[in-house]
Amino acid sequence: MNLKSRTDEELGDLIYYLSQYEFKIKYNPGKENLEADCLSRNPVLESNDNTDEQLKIVNLIKLEDIVKDQNKNEEIQNNKNKLIEKQSIFYKKIRKKEKIILSEELSIKLLKNIHENLCHIGIGQMQKTVSPLYTAKNLIKNIKKICTSCEICIKNKSRGHDRFGLMSHLGPATKPFEIVSIDTIGGFGGSRSTKKYLHLLVDHFTRYAFISTSKTQSANDFIKLITNIIEMEDIGIILTDQYPGINSKDFKKFLNDKRIPLVFTAVNAPFSNGLNERLNQTLVNKIRCKINGEGKKRAWTTIAQECVNKYNDTIHSVTGFTPSYLLYGKDVTILPNELKQEISNKDWIRDRKSALENTMKSHNYNKTLFDKNRKYYEFNVGDMVYVENGNKINRKKLDELRIGPYEIVEKISNSIYRIETGHKKTESNLFHITKIIPVRSFDEEETEDENVT
Ligand SMILES: [Zn+2]
Repeated sequence: MNLKSRTDEELGDLIYYLSQYEFKIKYNPGKENLEADCLSRNPVLESNDNTDEQLKIVNLIKLEDIVKDQNKNEEIQNNKNKLIEKQSIFYKKIRKKEKIILSEELSIKLLKNIHENLCHIGIGQMQKTVSPLYTAKNLIKNIKKICTSCEICIKNKSRGHDRFGLMSHLGPATKPFEIVSIDTIGGFGGSRSTKKYLHLLVDHFTRYAFISTSKTQSANDFIKLITNIIEMEDIGIILTDQYPGINSKDFKKFLNDKRIPLVFTAVNAPFSNGLNERLNQTLVNKIRCKINGEGKKRAWTTIAQECVNKYNDTIHSVTGFTPSYLLYGKDVTILPNELKQEISNKDWIRDRKSALENTMKSHNYNKTLFDKNRKYYEFNVGDMVYVENGNKINRKKLDELRIGPYEIVEKISNSIYRIETGHKKTESNLFHITKIIPVRSFDEEETEDENVT
């Protein structure tokens, strides 16, 4: 160890302490070290002279408490002859193991102590810790309850809790502009343009893409893009990830004035981002092909617009139709003009229907993948819930992942709820169902998993 490279006192003390032993350091990569828990991940090097603290950790349950508890326990008192008694403690033999009998009340106290003391361990670890030594009424059920109702766990753990909201709660869009996504791609520039960003608005129903380009990322770019559309038609909902421009007051005010709800989607929610990300890649690939494939150099912004036009005139692999046909009824088949047939309104409506059916088929497929790890849950106005704390990108590593509980004040749709958090880090008062976790009290009966298809 290089003592000189680190100067902090805690580490120095630790190295000094360790230097009295002879040992070899063996590196154990994280992926093999599956046992790592919060003790090994967050080394808090505090002085060790607090013996009270140590005693508390060892004594999660006191002998005298067990004796008192067992004296009060009528079942033990009436069945003493069937039980094993050692040092005035009663044991029950279960599958060849002698276990200390606790009342349900004392066992809950013990379970809560263990859960908190061992850094909020999960259901499986709780069972392994408690079950070999103790037996109590509803022990397993109470372990589950304690772990799933713990506020600290819900707010701070990234996994191990139920995830709510099925994909079916959002979309697919059944008509143009019912649902649109907005997105920004950065990293352009250099090729005869000072602009760096491509802003993208995609209509979920037709898959039609609108773009704009700019030097900066500001609310104005999105405002322009949206204004162009609402001159033609109303927008139902805008889905988006988080961007600085999107979080600006100007943009929120604009949407508020136009009464367009903005819904922030989870970064891993495939219903919005899958669609946008795929298109992002497609477009960037098209632009790259074009820029590097042509001899003469043109501005990337011009090429981007050409590529988007081409994309809109190309048959979409999911809907089976071109976006411009679905949106405007524009005939973009590659037949010579003389051979093109007039498209009747009836045909167009029929084709829009089958585009939706095709989307549903693909949607159902994605939904199966998405719903596998999620639970159906019905949220109602007045329910208390936790919500995601800000967004993944801005959140500091050790910030709470979820905040609350807050009350649901309005049900906007099956998937979108208004929750007044008053919290400075939340960008919107509207939350998608996948970003909400219900508060479940310890006393609440567990509901059976519903299998909704
Ligand atoms: Zn916990």
